[in-house]
Amino acid sequence: MVKKICGIGAGYVGGPTMAVIALKCPSIEVAVVDISHSRISAWNSDKLPIYEPGLEEVIQQCRGKNLLFSTDIEKHVYEADIIFVNVNTPTKTSGLGAGKAADLTYWESAARMIADVSRSNKIVVEKSTVPVRTAEVIEKILVHNSNGMVKYQILSNPEFLSEGTSIQDLLNPDRVLIGGNDKNLGGQEAIQKLKAIYANWVPEDRIITTNLWSAELSKLADNAFLAQRISSINAMSALCEATGADVSQVSCVLSKNTKLGSKYLNASVGFGGSCFQKDILNLVYICESNGLVEVANYWKEVIKVNDYQKSRFVKKVVTSMFNTVSGKKIAVLGFSFKKDTSDTRKTPAIDVCKGLLADNACLSIYDPRVSEDQIRTDLSTNEIRWDCSTQVKPASFTNVKQVSVFGDVYEATKDAHGICVLTEWDEFKTIDYQKIFDSMEKPAFVFDGRNVLDVDKLKKIGFIVYSIGKPIDQ
Ligand code: NAD
Repeated sequence: MVKKICGIGAGYVGGPTMAVIALKCPSIEVAVVDISHSRISAWNSDKLPIYEPGLEEVIQQCRGKNLLFSTDIEKHVYEADIIFVNVNTPTKTSGLGAGKAADLTYWESAARMIADVSRSNKIVVEKSTVPVRTAEVIEKILVHNSNGMVKYQILSNPEFLSEGTSIQDLLNPDRVLIGGNDKNLGGQEAIQKLKAIYANWVPEDRIITTNLWSAELSKLADNAFLAQRISSINAMSALCEATGADVSQVSCVLSKNTKLGSKYLNASVGFGGSCFQKDILNLVYICESNGLVEVANYWKEVIKVNDYQKSRFVKKVVTSMFNTVSGKKIAVLGFSFKKDTSDTRKTPAIDVCKGLLADNACLSIYDPRVSEDQIRTDLSTNEIRWDCSTQVKPASFTNVKQVSVFGDVYEATKDAHGICVLTEWDEFKTIDYQKIFDSMEKPAFVFDGRNVLDVDKLKKIGFIVYSIGKPIDQ
């Protein structure tokens, strides 16, 4: 019987995932551990390290009962029957495969630590997204670093949650994937134990079992397909702008095709987040390592189109505003990579802001959940003058790159020449655009990078509006 679970890595996946397991399995003790002291103390405080709708409630229900957060990693690994490894697997930045391959150093150090401290049999679960055949390497690390007394079974159980809806996704998943093989690499016994945990709240027909390699690859394939769909509709948006078609109408037509379905068909300034680009690059590296250059090139295009979409947006802003944004105040509404999350990893806002700053714009940024510190870190460059106390003077037309961060949307837009909506936060649909228009320089531009605003209403007020995939004069 499983008495204790340990989750290594208390990030965007580890925190919510382990918390929901604790919620649904009250008889199991769940310890979430991390090398980051600041993250663990935030999980133990009232100000959680990440924002997710519904997360606080789950933590409040379980913390102090069967859920704990700790930096005493070795103790909890030693005591656990099942260890979920939720550590980060970023893209390698140097050495072999730099810029493409997954950096497994965090995973490797977790595996070595597990081998060092374990004295009883363990099921080790790959929750992080890893390259196909990673379990083989992990087994070698575990077996060769143990005294032979401990039996390890390795399972792949990739996570399909989406940030912004992760609690809902975890409580009501469309599927749970468990990959296992024979022998040490996740035999039937281990599969059944993990299945039994999920069976506490997930209907049996949604729990899919596959072999290990299919499970590992399926997660990469899943993200690649989603990102590809976004790049496909974004590529269409460029064509719509060139031809007078309307991408929303094209999406609507596509969504009625039952073979295609309706999701992931919204044109936008581009996808972001920590996963899509990194997982496609990982896939590209795996293809190239297997001599499949044409297949690698196919997936590379998904990222190229995404980069093109971001630079196209910047170009549209600059050209629409009389071919220069130098010294002009541009209000950036939304900085997180999607709504309902505070996560800014790979957010398109970073590239768009940097593109506008390259033309010496003065940016005033507002995001309901992203802190000023985070924005400063993301945009950090010596050239920026951070001035958040005084209002940027419009039309001073200097060569200074100036950024201000505001906690109020009306302050951020006051005296602005243009507004760029970069995240689809719901509140951007209901703010008082007449009030904003009255306080802006004229002509007042809106560039809706998420196609969420009521264009007709904005035009009636007097804005010049640019949406993705629609001609400017429509
Ligand atoms: P994250 O960076 O938010 O969290 C990872 C945590 O692991 C960090 O807090 C880090 O300090 C900790 N860590 C690293 N090495 C450690 C070690 N040896 N011992 C203990 N703790 C250690 O990352 P994340 O967004 O939670 O992603 C984790 C994994 O899940 C990645 O492989 C990612 O691709 C995958 N994934 C992410 C998402 C998502 O939406 N973020 C969704 C599905 C899958």
